[in-house]
Amino acid sequence: MKLHMQILIALGLGIKRNGHIFLGLILGIIAGVILHQYKVLPNGDINTSVAYIIGALDVIGKMFIRLIQMVVIPLVCSAIVIGIASVGDSNQLGKMGKKMILYYALITVAAVTIGSVLSALFKPGIGVQTYVNHTAALTAQEQVKEAVLAQQGNLSQLFINMIPENPIASIANGDMIPILVFALIFAIALSKVGDVARPIVGFFESVFAATMKVTDWIMYLAAPGVFALTATAISSFGTGIFTGISTYLIILAVGMLIQLCLVYPLIMKIFSKVPVATYFAAITEPLMVAFGTASSSATLPLTIACCEKRGISHKVCSFVLPLGATLNMDATALFQTVAVMFLTQAYGITLEPMQIVMVAVFAIVASSTSAGIPGAGLITLAIILNALGLTSQQLWEGLAFLFAIDRIIDMFRSMLNVTSDAVVAAVIADNEGELNYDMLNNTDADRDILD
Ligand code: ASP
Repeated sequence: MKLHMQILIALGLGIKRNGHIFLGLILGIIAGVILHQYKVLPNGDINTSVAYIIGALDVIGKMFIRLIQMVVIPLVCSAIVIGIASVGDSNQLGKMGKKMILYYALITVAAVTIGSVLSALFKPGIGVQTYVNHTAALTAQEQVKEAVLAQQGNLSQLFINMIPENPIASIANGDMIPILVFALIFAIALSKVGDVARPIVGFFESVFAATMKVTDWIMYLAAPGVFALTATAISSFGTGIFTGISTYLIILAVGMLIQLCLVYPLIMKIFSKVPVATYFAAITEPLMVAFGTASSSATLPLTIACCEKRGISHKVCSFVLPLGATLNMDATALFQTVAVMFLTQAYGITLEPMQIVMVAVFAIVASSTSAGIPGAGLITLAIILNALGLTSQQLWEGLAFLFAIDRIIDMFRSMLNVTSDAVVAAVIADNEGELNYDMLNNTDADRDILD
């Protein structure tokens, strides 16, 4: 049987095993469609009972996301500290770090290449050119020309912002990248100071264990949480929006499928002996939660729990997965490349091959600076458009168009972002002899996640 079929079947089997969340998802879609249908009364007034239900679902969904997000910062910090401390041997740490960067880079470069090639070939923006004001399009074309001539970009500020001025302020603001940078440096320092580090490492071990316990409890709420989130998202837009942007959506779907069915399996097959189908089936629970929450950070506790239950060592999980959930955003990069090409085509701006490469490079940077939270990729899209010289007004006009449907796309890209994190963790674990294949092949293991 062809590999992509095996993967889809494996995902299907995994979904079957996690039926309660999947049911939440399906019911959420159905409820969302019905609510959207009856949101407005025939006389044009708002249907107050439907608005009340949507409001209530919105509250439930937001509470679910908050519950799970509340454990993210303690989890990330403690996972990195004990991850690095438990690696101990700085050679192994260096080796794992290099491999992690290599695999994440390969996956993300593949994503932006797929996104730019598909958008250049199928031109998703052409279909909406009629909706764009002619004068606005001419102005945009001029601005892009000027910006390309004086291309500075704002990359330097991005790099500066990665270093926390005050780590406590970064933690209070939930700025994931500076937090990660600080946690990494702090953890490496701890691993170098010998026995005096023991009490602090012990403290973080307790924090980690407690946050994982809280995660187990929160996961009992996954089905209603995913139901509420999906229903609210779907109820907020109509099906009409799909027609003008169908090529855009198809390109995104095809691009993501290529990542899922070709790029990830290739990375696994070339660099490890992890059985692709078995592994994909093993990680479906976090994937569904990622789909429902549209957040790789919020899914992180579950991704770690699931990967550990299926045989990836704690050492690898606690090092690779938190970094991946924040920095490895291949699906976001793919989305950003396609979205920028879509917008420039809609404005009638022709990008030269070098400019397309520039868009792709900016997408890699912009996606890595996106936090693993809902909508982050749409916000950092502004970085690329700015680099192209488009003003904020044009940018928001363009984004408003994409905004309406972003939540659904975000669900898919978050799911993919989490998949690639888990794939890289498995490949590194295999390379480092840190993958217990008996546990991986034990299909009963993921049931324990909720125990
Ligand atoms: N929501 C995505 C994630 O958490 C990031 C994005 O907006 O693309 O992975």
